[in-house]
Amino acid sequence: MRPDHNEAMNNTSRAWERPRWWFYLLLPLVHFASVKLTFFCAVTPENEVVVWLPNAVLLAALMRFRGQRAWLMAALAFCSDTGANLAVFTPAVAVQLSGINLIEVLITYLLMRRTGGVSDLKRVEDLRKFTVAGPLIGTLIASLMAAAVLKSQIATDTPYLTLTRLWWFGDALGMMIYTPLLLALTQSGRDIVRLRKADGLAVLLIIVLAGAIFSTYEGAIDGISLTPTLLLPMVLYIAVRFGTRWTTLTVALISLAISMMLTGGQKPFGNVSVHMEIVRAQEFILTLCLVGIGFSILINELRVRERSLEERVRQRTRELEESNSKLATLSQTDGLTGIANRRRFDEVLAAEWSRAGRSVQPLALAILDVDYFKAYNDSYGHQAGDDCLRAVAALLNDKVRRTSDLAARYGGEEFAFVAPMTDRDSAYQIAEAVRNALEQLALPHIASPFRIVTASIGVAVVVPGQAATPQSLFQLADAALYQAKQQGRNRVVIADDA
Ligand code: GH3
Ligand code: MG
Ligand code: MG
Repeated sequence: MRPDHNEAMNNTSRAWERPRWWFYLLLPLVHFASVKLTFFCAVTPENEVVVWLPNAVLLAALMRFRGQRAWLMAALAFCSDTGANLAVFTPAVAVQLSGINLIEVLITYLLMRRTGGVSDLKRVEDLRKFTVAGPLIGTLIASLMAAAVLKSQIATDTPYLTLTRLWWFGDALGMMIYTPLLLALTQSGRDIVRLRKADGLAVLLIIVLAGAIFSTYEGAIDGISLTPTLLLPMVLYIAVRFGTRWTTLTVALISLAISMMLTGGQKPFGNVSVHMEIVRAQEFILTLCLVGIGFSILINELRVRERSLEERVRQRTRELEESNSKLATLSQTDGLTGIANRRRFDEVLAAEWSRAGRSVQPLALAILDVDYFKAYNDSYGHQAGDDCLRAVAALLNDKVRRTSDLAARYGGEEFAFVAPMTDRDSAYQIAEAVRNALEQLALPHIASPFRIVTASIGVAVVVPGQAATPQSLFQLADAALYQAKQQGRNRVVIADDA
């Protein structure tokens, strides 16, 4: 058998591990041991089985390895089962009953495969599919067959339906208790559990109470009534606090202990008939199983979901932060040239203005305006005009390079830069370097008297005073720019000291 397509799709990230050679030794050993364990503590002197464990061994093996080498595993389990049955039944009956056990497991496994429920039983949905396939359908079909074999081939006065019910419940319980346990024990990875201090105390209490319950006779100890029902809240506590592995183990131990009380004649459910006692025990173990294992799986699933939700929130927050910072950069950048835009320039100017005011240092501001740019657009087209603006921006960025300086596109074909702690001479030199560099670039401009692209720059330098504002500095530079244009363009004019 091979994993079916759906399953392979669900588990693409996980290649199913193949059973190793020693597994084929282990399987019949564990199977045989579970038969012996069942006979030791879960079969009454009247030969009635409270919980039948061995079928869970084969089922867990099939589930664990996704049906790989299923026939070999089935054959091994069948031999072990027949060997054990021979101690109680005639060879013919032993073989038939072992065959029925095998059919029970195979029906369960095939039903689970059909519903896509072959899994590690880590989700409530998987537990539901498992419960329907095995403890409900697989075991019921096998019980009807087994009861027929028993009724027809051994002398018994137990009615057919009673035999069916006994077999059904015993097998269903064994499957429900031991399949999740065997799967949980062979799984890697740990349950997500955060232990508290109170847990130690609680476990101590649970052990004491369980000890007391297992020491009762006819449901009482020293006249005080104490029946196994009290174990239910404890199993719930373990399910909530310790995860699936510990819960399945606890449920398994309790069910064995109850069976032993029964077979040892302790009558944990009071002085009732043997048959009634078995019914009570099976019903109690069933409740214990459903509530305990169901709850632990539910809680595990919730924790896993909570974790993945937290992870998703973290991921989204990271993405949001990234796009926020991208947005912030974008909102401060000029789309055409990629250098700072006017908004950023105004912010930096205001900040540098007050810093220069506090430290009584000069602050330089320059405005650059491309000469005859309208004519450039007219001659070469808007696209070429854009390219020209990008070239001017790159050049400006290159020349205004101190980390405290900032070059920006102010609007249209106008650029500007601020330079903190810069005196008149230095400011003039930077501006002149920019103008000169543009001239050296010698971008052709037939409509200009210079025949190349040039720019005029107005510079102003002040030490911010009480009365002045950044706008006044800007106006000074703008006035200087106007003068540069007036004086013939392609030049730097620096405003007089304010
Ligand atoms: P002056 O020497 O006096 O500065 O003359 P000018 O032609 O450069 O000045 P004017 O202000 O008359 O023209 C500016 C031109 O800049 C007008 C507009 O078409 C052009 N312009 C503004 N923004 C852009 C832009 O983003 N791309 C392009 N290609 N052209 C632009
Ligand atoms: Mg202009
Ligand atoms: Mg211009």
